[in-house]
Amino acid sequence: MTNAATAPLEEGPSKGFGQITLLSHDDRLKGRPRLCSDCGLCDSALKPSMPQACMFVDNRTQAIEQRLHGRNRQPDDELRFGIYRAQYAARMRRPNPQAQWSGIVTALGARLLEQGKVEAVITTGAAPGTRFKAQPILARTAAEVLATAGNKPCLSPNLSLLDSVREQGIKRLALIGTSCQVHALRAVEAELGLEQLYVIGIPCSDNVAYEDLTYFLTQVSRSPETVVHHEFMQDFSLWMRHEDGHVERLNFVDFPMDKLHGIFPSACLSCFDYPNALSDLTVGYMGAELGWQWVLARTERGEELFELMRPDLEIGELTERGDRRRGMPRFMERLTHPPGAKRPPFLIRKLVAMLQRRKGPGGLEFARAVIEMKLLRNLNYVRGKFARLEPRVVPYHVYQTLEPYAEPYREIFGRALADES
Ligand SMILES: Cc1cc2nc3c(=O)[nH]c(=O)nc-3n(C[C@H](O)[C@H](O)[C@H](O)COP(=O)(O)OP(=O)(O)OC[C@H]3O[C@@H](n4cnc5c(N)ncnc54)[C@H](O)[C@@H]3O)c2cc1C
Repeated sequence: MTNAATAPLEEGPSKGFGQITLLSHDDRLKGRPRLCSDCGLCDSALKPSMPQACMFVDNRTQAIEQRLHGRNRQPDDELRFGIYRAQYAARMRRPNPQAQWSGIVTALGARLLEQGKVEAVITTGAAPGTRFKAQPILARTAAEVLATAGNKPCLSPNLSLLDSVREQGIKRLALIGTSCQVHALRAVEAELGLEQLYVIGIPCSDNVAYEDLTYFLTQVSRSPETVVHHEFMQDFSLWMRHEDGHVERLNFVDFPMDKLHGIFPSACLSCFDYPNALSDLTVGYMGAELGWQWVLARTERGEELFELMRPDLEIGELTERGDRRRGMPRFMERLTHPPGAKRPPFLIRKLVAMLQRRKGPGGLEFARAVIEMKLLRNLNYVRGKFARLEPRVVPYHVYQTLEPYAEPYREIFGRALADES
């Protein structure tokens, strides 16, 4: 299968650099808030609940945590990772070759259906004729969930299926989703009339609209049409696997940022839940060593989900090395440069990539590093572009997490990290 149905846009992001990418979907998104990740809630009959449910209108993380856990986050790692009861490095003993990593997520969705724990799973397939265009699927069989293995790395209106859930009389449901979808679902959970809800979260950051994903691939790959799988790896490079099986790699420092800075939706740049903290179980990779997945069981239901999969899992070791704090002031300093500023010369980039791999943060420290960097970058984005929204869209834990950097923050940005009033 090729991506021919949706040829890559070589001419640039769908709406031009520096604009709000999602507005490329102007018609579809009419009447939505200015920050919108197209989670799908507004396509459903629950649209009237959007002002209370959307994390980009009123972030309710603190209240939802209280409901799920009876408390809020405590120092240290909970501030970054969200509340969890246990975390693991794990992978399927028999990996699914179609999966993004080893296939824990789709195997779990399939198992929930096989064991009758749920009647349906909301998951994300690929639109017909495309490899990566996201299409929400209400899977009723294990085979249907397994067919959705692998990332479709673009925005997907999964919550639009909540109407079908109601119409089909489904009372026991699982959702596999990103944090904006999970926040909205948690906020309307009581209105759904469900008997059981399992929430399987995937970490998510810097998602893009489909058109901009195809454009992105033209900028980072020598053969964008043949990319069948890609991932931003823990070794500070993007791995792209092609139809013939070969893997092309591009170091993060070699990304042509001058050509990319317009592609990320303003909503994703205003998101503060990279690790999907309101799920029952988060399944990602960024806190684990290369080749392993990072799994956080957050609630009692999350522990139940993990135990369902345990017999099929190989459990590894969670490790950590390096010191993320050393690079943070430099990262802050870079944020003061205009987006898309000129890249350093090739040899310097090569050296940086080598140092990142050898001396940069690894294991859990890598996860801490990237989560903190995105919190900081996104806080500054909101302050720069949507300052009036800060009290409503920036949740409490952001300031607490970044507190150790309050001094360099003040020096570099000339203002306090947290509002002191
Ligand atoms: C846009 C995006 C960015 C991500 N960024 C990170 C990251 O920075 N760090 C990290 O640790 N993990 C990240 N992940 C999650 C990670 O890439 C894997 O999806 C996850 O670890 C599960 O792997 P698996 O092999 O168990 O999944 P599989 O068994 O292959 O299943 C993949 C699941 O992902 C779901 N999915 C695919 N595309 C989408 C989509 N667009 N929206 C919602 N759900 C979707 C499918 O429903 C499917 O159930 C990201 C995922 C996406 C979609």
